[in-house]
Amino acid sequence: MCNSNILIKIIENMGKNIIENKDYLTELDRAIGDADHGINMSKGFSAVDAKLDEMSGKDWGSILKTVAMTLISTVGGASGPLYGTAFLRASTVVDGKMEIDKEDIINMFEQAVEGIKMRGKSNKGDKTILDALIPAFEALKLAYEEGKDTKIAFKMAEEAALEGVEYTKDIIAKKGRASYLGERSIGHQDPGATSTYIMIKSINEVLEQ
Ligand code: ADP
Ligand code: MG
Ligand code: MG
Repeated sequence: MCNSNILIKIIENMGKNIIENKDYLTELDRAIGDADHGINMSKGFSAVDAKLDEMSGKDWGSILKTVAMTLISTVGGASGPLYGTAFLRASTVVDGKMEIDKEDIINMFEQAVEGIKMRGKSNKGDKTILDALIPAFEALKLAYEEGKDTKIAFKMAEEAALEGVEYTKDIIAKKGRASYLGERSIGHQDPGATSTYIMIKSINEVLEQ
């Protein structure tokens, strides 16, 4: 259903959007962290960009694994290993596949969520990446269960991710640097949830092309 060329386009678009939002993500992190989230993510995705040619034509698993290893090895900070683990876990369910279907998409997403939960010892409500990723995954799964097509399912996932980002403003950070602020983290939007939203939006932009 979806061949691996589309994944290359998605990864490329994620990089473009992350790099375009470098300052925005960094400013969000300035309020409740150490002002480097945009810098970290841009560095990681620039390194991923440099490997796009080499990844082209490979299977889904290999591409996702290269993205994972590149993020882990180039991104300083918490977000590198977390996103790296998400991509790595996702890669395991599509190992060797040139084409994937809806079930693979659900499995990849689920593994990404589980990977971050495990690596970050975190869950929904901690004011992290997971506050965008878990609602997005749940919306995607529900949309598929209701028989929606991939484009619509991802649109619903994007909306749920955005709601999740908004929700991070209302809650106390329980994980990562922002947790040092305790109650003072309330009122601020989580940078990691925001980068997750940008990545999901990047998937949609390619699906809509
Ligand atoms: P660092 O905090 O090391 O400077 P970044 O600024 O790149 O790393 O990333 C910060 C983001 O990482 C946070 O906004 C949050 O969304 C995410 N994060 C931090 N710790 C965790 C965790 N344990 N689980 C999930 N996400 C986390
Ligand atoms: Mg930071
Ligand atoms: Mg840092």
